[in-house]
Amino acid sequence: MGGDGLDEKLLATLESVKKHGGVQWWLYLGRCRVCRQDWLVAQEERIYDEHFLQRLNPHEAERVIVQGIWPDTFISYERVLRIGQSLTNPCRFLDPRAVSLISTVEDLRKERPEISAAEIADLLGIGVNHSTKLMAASGAEADQNVWRRAFTVVKAAHGYAAKLFGRK
Ligand SMILES: [Zn+2]
Repeated sequence: MGGDGLDEKLLATLESVKKHGGVQWWLYLGRCRVCRQDWLVAQEERIYDEHFLQRLNPHEAERVIVQGIWPDTFISYERVLRIGQSLTNPCRFLDPRAVSLISTVEDLRKERPEISAAEIADLLGIGVNHSTKLMAASGAEADQNVWRRAFTVVKAAHGYAAKLFGRK
C-alpha cells in the first residue's frame, strides 16, 4: 500500500500460497519467503491499482489453507474498494467507458443489486452522472462480453499490459 516503494519490496518477497479463485479473483493468501509472515492479499487492479494486505496469524492462515475459510476483510469487491477509498486515490480514466469501470459496476451490482449510483460514484471516485451512465452500459450484456473477451486476451498475452488498458 502507498507509493513509497515499500510495497514493491514486500511484494517481491511474497509468494502466493493459495488463491481464493471463483468470483473473488482478486483474493489470495501470500507468505513472505524471508520471514514466513502470512498475508491476506487483495490485488485490486481496476480502480485503485494497488495491493491491499492484512497480516494473518498462523491460526488464521491455517484455516484458509486447510479449511478454505477466509477472513471477510476482502471478501466482496465493494469491501476492497472501500478500503482502497480510505487508503489511496482512484485512477483517472481517459475513456469514460473503460472496461475496468464497466466491469467493476457490473460486479458491484451482482454483489448488491440495490447499490445506488451515488454509492458506486463514491467507490469509483467519479461523478453520479458518470456512474449512472456506466450502470446503463453494464446492462448491455452482449456488448460487454465481446469487450471482456478482448480484454482477457490482452491480459494473457502481455501480463501487466492490463494495468495500462483504459488508463492514463
Ligand atoms: Zn517478511
